[in-house]
Amino acid sequence: MNIIILGQAGSGKGTQAGILAKKYGLEHFDTGKLLRQVARLDGELGREIHEIINVRKELVPSRILKEIVHLRLSDMPREQGIVFDGVPRNLEQAGYFSETLKEFGRKIDKVFFVNIPGEESIRRISFRRVCRDCKKVFIMGKDIRKETDRCLDCGGEIMHRIDDTVEGIKKRLQVFEEETMPVVDSYREEGVLVEIDGGQNIEKVANDIAKNVVIR
Ligand code: AMP
Repeated sequence: MNIIILGQAGSGKGTQAGILAKKYGLEHFDTGKLLRQVARLDGELGREIHEIINVRKELVPSRILKEIVHLRLSDMPREQGIVFDGVPRNLEQAGYFSETLKEFGRKIDKVFFVNIPGEESIRRISFRRVCRDCKKVFIMGKDIRKETDRCLDCGGEIMHRIDDTVEGIKKRLQVFEEETMPVVDSYREEGVLVEIDGGQNIEKVANDIAKNVVIR
């Protein structure tokens, strides 16, 4: 089973991809997380990716994405299902993504678009914090109470993701609208897209997704 989850920043696509991965034994392939890991590395590639994702808040170029997708697929057995979180993000990526999947004997079974309004995205991201060490995500006022609280899992320091500023979210929403919405529309035309109301709570969103997952 190969599933794609797309959604605006703060839509909860990562959380839902994690739930799906656990429920159906899928590999969670999170391009944003992978790229943030590379961005922290000391070296030319690390600096280039840091500049793109954290300073310019744009999409990383195709050559980098292609390499990451190829590498990841080549070291995974074909029978291992995958939930793709945040890829493809523009039409160019959608093109080579489906070619690469075909090359590895895979096909896309379902695409979920977890949709939330722009204001909700900004509101949610302004409450999002992350552990500097284990990268677990927390919601201020719900999971933690103050900026000095420590990670509930590993005791690490809690911080804002570098790209989670209001101006950063606005830029990422614009990129989503201009570049990723055409991908959503093309999957809709193909008949593989299911749109989910991402404004509901986590369990309800997970239920709506599960109703549309067909096990073969
Ligand atoms: P996310 O964790 O999904 O919010 O992604 C964080 C950032 O990583 C995005 O704003 C992009 O700069 C970069 N990124 C993630 N996935 C992709 C992708 N498929 N193509 C290009 N850039 C990506």
